[in-house]
Amino acid sequence: MHYRIAQIGGDGIGPEVIAEAVRVLGAAQGDGLRFTFEEAEVGAALFQRTGEDLPRESVELCRAVDAILFGAAGLPDVRHADGTELTPQITLRMVLDLYAGMRPIKLYPGVPSPLAMPEGQKIDYVILRENTEGLFASLGGGSKVGEELAVDTLVITRKGTERVVRRAFETSRSRGGAPGDGVKRVTCVDKANVFRSYAFFRQVFQETARDYPDVRTDLAYIDAMTMYVVQAPWRYDVVVLENMFGDILSDLGAATVGGLGMGPSGDIGDRYALFQPSHGSAPDIAGKGVANPIATILSAAMMCRWLGAQHRDPVVTRLSDRIDTAVARALTDPRARTRDIGGTATTRCCTDAVIEAL
Ligand code: ATP
Repeated sequence: MHYRIAQIGGDGIGPEVIAEAVRVLGAAQGDGLRFTFEEAEVGAALFQRTGEDLPRESVELCRAVDAILFGAAGLPDVRHADGTELTPQITLRMVLDLYAGMRPIKLYPGVPSPLAMPEGQKIDYVILRENTEGLFASLGGGSKVGEELAVDTLVITRKGTERVVRRAFETSRSRGGAPGDGVKRVTCVDKANVFRSYAFFRQVFQETARDYPDVRTDLAYIDAMTMYVVQAPWRYDVVVLENMFGDILSDLGAATVGGLGMGPSGDIGDRYALFQPSHGSAPDIAGKGVANPIATILSAAMMCRWLGAQHRDPVVTRLSDRIDTAVARALTDPRARTRDIGGTATTRCCTDAVIEAL
């Protein structure tokens, strides 16, 4: 099979880490599998040059290809008049209807976690962040009245909730359950005790759950959940939640498994899908050759899994597992780890170790 991939580096460390994921996929070609990469420009630096951060040609390319590999977008010094940063990656999620933000939280052997893990316990769960509504429905549409008042609105719809909840149950069915007890479990995280919008999210979750009697359900409030994922992350299998809560909980989860450099993600809709690291453009380390490429390489592995399911292609599905195994094997050697995960490797050396393991 031959897959066309849109390659969008974006800003800061985005182009650096995307180049590494492309190198891994390039090295893995063969066995009838081929990728071609078509570059598109998006981001704050592009906006500075041209006045546009998400040109129409880039969106059209995203619609034309088989999948999208995205680095990061946004720079702290490039802002709209209202003080907000440019966020073309969020606009793309809305435009392409990439409603399921899938963010695996997995601790790889050898990678230091700030948690004191009991012997034999593992962290391996998936966060499903609703990507197209919630508080982010307010994007560009909130209001500020003079210098005294600003308002953003949180939107929960039945359709938007049901489709991401279904994705969460299907994800649980495809996994081996929570590492702590092997139980397939979907945890709905909200603030249903205080807000009608979140009570409605929970109601739709519970109604939808009836179609998945083989998967156990679990409920948690977001404030307590931030404690649970620190105290006993091995209890979790799949977690589903509103956009803003998902944004925050996924960074917290990434911190428990080595930091943002270890957090891959896939923004998945019914038709299109975009894969990018959970981290942003990290301008503090851009251009230094020290960014951790693993989140992006694991995002590329997620892309292979999605392509395999879309095209019923066992070769690209197998590549997804091979990349995951290669990452796990490479990271057991401290010389392959970048400095954010306790090593001294450069971005390039870390990728070389993954390719070697492949
Ligand atoms: P955004 O809101 O766009 O997600 P952010 O404000 O959360 O961005 P990031 O750009 O994600 O910020 O980075 C936060 C910090 O985490 C960076 O300053 C950097 O030190 C660290 N970091 C992020 N990604 C990586 C990486 N791949 N390798 C090493 N360190 C990273």
